[in-house]
Amino acid sequence: MMIIADRIWQLREQIKAAAQRAHRNSAEISLMAVSKTFPAAAIRTAYDAGVRLFGENRVQEFSGKAQELGALAGVEWHLIGHLQSNKAARAVELFHAIDSVDSIRLARKLNQVAGTMEKRLPVLIEVNIGGEHAKSGVLPESQEFNQLLELAPELPWLEFSGLMTIPPYHADPVHSRPYFRQLRECFERVQKRHLPALSMRILSMGMSYDFPIAIEEGATCIRLGTAIFGDRAATGSHG
Ligand SMILES: *Cc1c(COP(=O)(O)O)cnc(C)c1O
Repeated sequence: MMIIADRIWQLREQIKAAAQRAHRNSAEISLMAVSKTFPAAAIRTAYDAGVRLFGENRVQEFSGKAQELGALAGVEWHLIGHLQSNKAARAVELFHAIDSVDSIRLARKLNQVAGTMEKRLPVLIEVNIGGEHAKSGVLPESQEFNQLLELAPELPWLEFSGLMTIPPYHADPVHSRPYFRQLRECFERVQKRHLPALSMRILSMGMSYDFPIAIEEGATCIRLGTAIFGDRAATGSHG
């Protein structure tokens, strides 16, 4: 388990180095530990090493771990995997934020359940930046994307705070750069519109193999699984 703490320490150094290359302040970049497929004990080790932000992909899987872990002071749990409407209520109970809002329908459902629990819910819009059929997320600048942004004032329980993406996978991470750049440009265009009820400040992009490039391109949150916890089992889920 010591190895997890060592990796986190090294990753923090790499984050600083990437931020420096881009003339950015590394304090504005949060490290999210993606703990899907790993047990509660691994989460606790990362927590003990100072990580406070965690991402999980599945409501069901996290539900069990959350029970095992109990309360951890200052921790923030985010759902980063596709959410089905029928699990929205459980998700709002379990998570502090939903980083994978990929439809108007889901946004309306989340607003409704958050309202019944009287809980303000930060959300990110997931953008399918590569337009891949197998991935969820709204297409950038699509009608659904714009409608979601314009809907914010009607969904008072949701706090629209940014964008999230997973670019198309390519073994060489340099291929991620144009996608990261596109998302950042899209993010900046949204910021400039000054739409009501939006507080666009989070740009969640970059995973274990391409996070330094994401930081160079403006990420404010990077999501690291493998780089912290090691390889997921072959049967491990990606969503
Ligand atoms: C699994 C996952 C990650 C982490 O991926 P690694 O390559 O293991 O760092 C990040 N974001 C999302 C949405 C994921 O599903």
